[in-house]
Amino acid sequence: MKASAFEYRRARSVAEACGWLSSNDGARLLAGGQSLLPAMNMRLATPSLLIDITAIDELRGIATAAGVLRIGALVRHVELLRSAEVAKQAPLLAQAIAHVAHPAIRNRGTIGGNLAHADPASELPACMLVLGATMIASGPKGERRIAAGEFFQGVFETALAGDEMLIAVEVPVAKPAQRFSFLELARRSGDYAIAGLACSAMHRGGVLSDVKLGFFAVGDRPVLALGAAAALAMSSDAAAVEAAKSALAQDLDPQDDLQGSAALRLHLSRVLLERSVASLLTQETGGAP
Ligand SMILES: Cc1cc2nc3c(=O)[nH]c(=O)nc-3n(C[C@H](O)[C@H](O)[C@H](O)COP(=O)(O)OP(=O)(O)OC[C@H]3O[C@@H](n4cnc5c(N)ncnc54)[C@H](O)[C@@H]3O)c2cc1C
Repeated sequence: MKASAFEYRRARSVAEACGWLSSNDGARLLAGGQSLLPAMNMRLATPSLLIDITAIDELRGIATAAGVLRIGALVRHVELLRSAEVAKQAPLLAQAIAHVAHPAIRNRGTIGGNLAHADPASELPACMLVLGATMIASGPKGERRIAAGEFFQGVFETALAGDEMLIAVEVPVAKPAQRFSFLELARRSGDYAIAGLACSAMHRGGVLSDVKLGFFAVGDRPVLALGAAAALAMSSDAAAVEAAKSALAQDLDPQDDLQGSAALRLHLSRVLLERSVASLLTQETGGAP
């Protein structure tokens, strides 16, 4: 199929793009186009105006300052994958991005488009929860900062207002004793996950603390498994891991779909949890926090 007719404008600034968004009800932003254009071609999205934001230079760049890694909304997946700064300051993102789609899609897709699209099976939103990221939005009333935990509100739903856009995301840089694990189970490499888990924990002397477990593809949005993390708060021994796996029944709300049943997804989540804890424990012990 082909997209329905639409007007096309290329914005030169965030202010211009937000102005057009607020004065056109049927407007949508175009970043990498890797989710929006297929949806338009299948007539799942029928915007009357496409606002191309790819020429807005203020949306580019990866930089660290005052303990925070800032990634512009137009940074493409391939740039995240190749960035030495991301590998050093946010190794979880570097691990996760290799699982996002295929090279052709990673060459065009952007972090802003990915997060704004808010696919519950997407890897990056779960990483944002685990890392305690802050989304920077801009709109006619100026900028506002939205915690990752507030940003993802359901299937393809975010806290962005209709006249706002994501301009950047900020992530606290990794601490020396912080360890990360990223695992997902998909039918084929590059497919969206059937279940996935992004983790962070402090690791000192063979003991994990401050464990964060961000599951994706097992609900209508990425979710931090708080009960399972609490079960791992005092110990990471076999009994604690079993308790954490049991707690996932309350933490997660997987649904049946064509990819797999809710029961399969819960089972896979438990498998991922056990493997992730083993991975965190076997990584080299860190130093001071
Ligand atoms: C075959 C295939 C496989 C894929 N596999 C995966 C996968 O395994 N994991 C995964 O995470 N993704 C996957 N994707 C999606 C890919 O990561 C997309 O690049 C990404 O989801 C959207 O980014 P984009 O820059 O292409 O956004 P676009 O397609 O341009 O836009 C997506 C949506 O976000 C909005 N938007 C874009 N930028 C902004 C902004 N700055 N502020 C506010 N709203 C904005 C658009 O209006 C639109 O609604 C896949 C895509 C394809 C086609």
